[in-house]
Amino acid sequence: MGQLNEQLIKHIDEAHAMEQNVLRMLDGMIATTDDPEILDALEHHRMQTQGHADRMVRRLEAHGVTWAQQRAFAGEWFPDADLVATEHLVEDLRRVKEPAEVARIQAACAIADEALGVVAIRLADRPTERDVALWLELEMRDRGAAGTSFDPIVASGPNGAKPHARPSGRAIEAGEPVVIDFGCMVDGYCSDMTRTLSVGDPGPEARHVYEVVRDAQQLGRDAVSAGADCARVDKACRDVIDAAGWGDAFVHGTGHGVGLEIHEAPRVAATARDTLASGYVVTVEPGVYLPGVGGVRIEDTVVVTDDGADVLTRFSKDFLL
Ligand code: ZN
Ligand code: ZN
Repeated sequence: MGQLNEQLIKHIDEAHAMEQNVLRMLDGMIATTDDPEILDALEHHRMQTQGHADRMVRRLEAHGVTWAQQRAFAGEWFPDADLVATEHLVEDLRRVKEPAEVARIQAACAIADEALGVVAIRLADRPTERDVALWLELEMRDRGAAGTSFDPIVASGPNGAKPHARPSGRAIEAGEPVVIDFGCMVDGYCSDMTRTLSVGDPGPEARHVYEVVRDAQQLGRDAVSAGADCARVDKACRDVIDAAGWGDAFVHGTGHGVGLEIHEAPRVAATARDTLASGYVVTVEPGVYLPGVGGVRIEDTVVVTDDGADVLTRFSKDFLL
């Protein structure tokens, strides 16, 4: 919870507690006063205090409410309420997933696994990146997904060097890695997985990059457990890639929370201050991007348990098809 939040809520709670004390005090005085003039003044004062105590407090998530909405809330919708800005109150509650939420994310991950199983076989037919993105969506919807959890990334050959590449009309050739990052939605919950695949051998350099990223991803996953700092998980991945000399080519954070939204708290990054707890669902997705050459990213969605993490995205990490 943000510091501003904590201060505001504490302040409001204190103010309410004080009002309740004043009301109790006034009740006591009213009960023991006979003078009609004083009684009248006390009752008037009590009414005012009660009115104030009854004012509702509505908390609005500051990053989700526009200026115009805030004015509408204050003016038309809740004219009698005290509006208080909060920061990430809802996200903070959403970090720990209940078993029923994990089950939905798990179902979305299982559907994505199956869809990639069907589509990977067809990569040998030289489809375009857009074809692959479309096939993945069709296969996931066919298996009960409500849709994709974000626009799939299918980035082949040199396009793989762009971590957020959009699928293009480029045909996927044999002997070049293709980064496929995608997911679907089940009952409102997201899945997120990346695999890098190659139809035929892309050569020793690409294989070496792949092995380094796979090792980094494994160590990152091994670092995930309740009580582990997110920054520590990031470091576990980054150390492996640094040691291989590609530290500068790992240009993004290691992961993020997944739930009702594809990106939610916590961040798993070098600058993150969060600590993992049992029930968090996060991704571990290191990557190496070499401009003009291509890229490799491997991503799993995992659920944090007391003694480690359960991997929800189970598709094979074999590089060569
Ligand atoms: Zn992803
Ligand atoms: Zn992701």
